[in-house]
Amino acid sequence: MTQIPATLIRGDGIGPEIVDAVLAVLEPLGNPFAFTEESAGLGALEAHGDPLPEATLASIRQTKLALKGPLTTPVGSGFRSVNVRLREAFSLYANVRPCRTIVPGRFSDVDLVVVRENLEGLYVGQEHWIRIEDDPYAVGVATGFNTRASCRRIVEYAFDYAVKHGRRTVTVVHKANILKVLTGVFLQEARAVAKAYDGRVALDERIVDACAMQLVQDPSRYDVIVTTNLFGDILSDLVAGLVGGLGFAPGANIGKDAAIFEAVHGSAPDIAGQGKANPVALMLAAGLMLDHVGRDDDAQRLRAAIAATISGGTRTADIGGTASTSDFGKAVAQAIRAGS
Ligand code: NAD
Repeated sequence: MTQIPATLIRGDGIGPEIVDAVLAVLEPLGNPFAFTEESAGLGALEAHGDPLPEATLASIRQTKLALKGPLTTPVGSGFRSVNVRLREAFSLYANVRPCRTIVPGRFSDVDLVVVRENLEGLYVGQEHWIRIEDDPYAVGVATGFNTRASCRRIVEYAFDYAVKHGRRTVTVVHKANILKVLTGVFLQEARAVAKAYDGRVALDERIVDACAMQLVQDPSRYDVIVTTNLFGDILSDLVAGLVGGLGFAPGANIGKDAAIFEAVHGSAPDIAGQGKANPVALMLAAGLMLDHVGRDDDAQRLRAAIAATISGGTRTADIGGTASTSDFGKAVAQAIRAGS
């Protein structure tokens, strides 16, 4: 089978360890990706003076596909978040976080997807202070905006995703009762887009606070959620918590010009270099990347092997086991070979 060109960024902290574990599980799948390695994050800053070197951007421009380990955002250095720069550079407008139970916990059957608008809302970074009398920092102000075109694009993405993945309902999550303009435009576009999918995918509407409560009480009420940037940021971490936490949460950043796959968690400097990190989230991100390029069978084999390995008792420390990152990778690779 032909290999698909892709960019690989090992990242900082636990990044190199979990990337090694992912490469170990891609091997028995026939190494579906021909990776070009590039750097980003703290390591790139130290080596090249820029946490997002031009060579890395050029590689992603060419491959249009990347798997990225977590990056440490240098604190107080004046550099903008590399993740935000990547989103902007490649118009990565959709952040997609599927959330499925692997290790049954409080819930045994969570299966939902959060589609977050990734570029607008309150994250456009237009903030300032207002002085009152002697206090220059008396009032903090943030301006957010949602363009109608971007709202339409993300809602269409969510409905198309639902059709492609056999899902029945898209819930638009908003706060249009209070933020009548900022999130009202999102709700209006959701209603308009939904008409084109009538009979195939139903539209549901929920105010964000009610959604948060219902997700915690009964996540089975949700199928696909589509929402604005800030609400999506919060809800997608909430749903990660429903299935065992950040160690199990993969994310896909999908854009017009590229798609970048990553674990939701950060570089975990507190456990870096100790062989303790759980590589499941990045493995699941590689699974989403396989889905993205149409290798759905390989993605399913990978997910089944991860589930079999964990239920067979091989677990990393964060979920009560003793397996090292690399031992866990080897066990999943072995499960893939055994299942094929
Ligand atoms: P973090 O996600 O790195 O760590 C939070 C806690 O979860 C830590 O105790 C850590 O040990 C644990 N943890 C995280 N991933 C784990 C894994 N795979 N296995 C086992 N335990 C794991 O969050 P943080 O400490 O707030 O951030 C550290 C750095 O990562 C910061 O520089 C932050 O900016 C960056 N970050 C990057 C990304 C990204 O690149 N997508 C996302 C979030 C944070």
